[in-house]
Amino acid sequence: MSDVRNVIIIGSGPAGYTAALYTARASLKPLVFEGAVTAGGALMNTTEVENFPGFQDGIMGPELMDNMRAQAERFGAELLPDDIVSVDLTGDIKTVTDTAGTVHRAKAVIVATGSQHRKLGLPNEDALSGRGVSWCATCDGFFFKDQDIAVIGGGDTAMEEATFLSRFAKSVTIVHRRDTLRASKAMQDRAFADPKIKFVWDSEVAEIKGDPKLESLTLRNLKSGELTELPVTGLFIAIGHDPRTELFKGQLNLDEEGYLKVDAPATRTNLTGVFGAGDVVDHTYRQAITAAGTGCSAALDAERFLAALA
Ligand code: FAD
Repeated sequence: MSDVRNVIIIGSGPAGYTAALYTARASLKPLVFEGAVTAGGALMNTTEVENFPGFQDGIMGPELMDNMRAQAERFGAELLPDDIVSVDLTGDIKTVTDTAGTVHRAKAVIVATGSQHRKLGLPNEDALSGRGVSWCATCDGFFFKDQDIAVIGGGDTAMEEATFLSRFAKSVTIVHRRDTLRASKAMQDRAFADPKIKFVWDSEVAEIKGDPKLESLTLRNLKSGELTELPVTGLFIAIGHDPRTELFKGQLNLDEEGYLKVDAPATRTNLTGVFGAGDVVDHTYRQAITAAGTGCSAALDAERFLAALA
């Protein structure tokens, strides 16, 4: 069993690395579990990031994350590319167990495990991510000025993405599996009133086509089975997110959608010495800068918690 650390951080997106930077600079020697396959978080799967302040000409997602990692490491953060597979966060000394079965102990834990956007599960979806396929209109809408775009989904997020995208796009086609929307009446009314938005009902995406960039979708009508082609250069998938909180069920309080509950604007969870930051908490903003911001808050909250123990 390892020595008791000051703080362990689970997750390596903008929230985890920012928490690592701040706690490292406070001489707390954080231990960061970055994840086995997805170290660096969601931005490792994208191309250009144009809205992270400080990069006038934009920066590639993986480069931004490599920089954040190196900055945390420079101040002494210890980074391990491994998953945490179980936790016990209830006592004064928290324990987390890695894939090799090694138990790590700490007085404070910052949870920054992010959330996973739901995928359609089609071939080409990952290959064309950042090349026409996106999960975030706020992040990528600007790249699709005067282009034809499809939005998949029928909830509030899909309507919000579609009405936001219609500001830039030539046309926005919402493709929905049913013939009615789940979105609130206000969001539906706004989408129906938008002259650039049209709807394809009772349909799903059968195929995503294009090489090296998205060119079109094949849509399947779920009632008739009929296949049609929709030429688009942008595809926004808005069918929901799953926060990575499975590990914490039964210990940390989660909301009805599974997101970690914190005492906002602080990052305290229901357990003393455990803090939450980034998209695992946030179902509203979901941006790199907001994740980094709450990562900073969690580090400062953990620092103050540890100082009070001393
Ligand atoms: P994440 O970045 O999701 O990182 C969480 C990390 O935790 C992952 O590395 C994961 O491996 C790790 N982890 C999870 N569970 C465990 C475990 N059990 N053990 C160890 N590690 C674990 N935002 C912008 O501001 N601008 C953009 O241009 C932009 N583009 C985007 C493009 C795409 C394709 C996507 C998917 C998102 C984009 N976003 C963008 C959103 C942004 O990436 C997220 O808001 C941000 O990454 C959230 O940061 P996070 O630190 O909370 O979580």
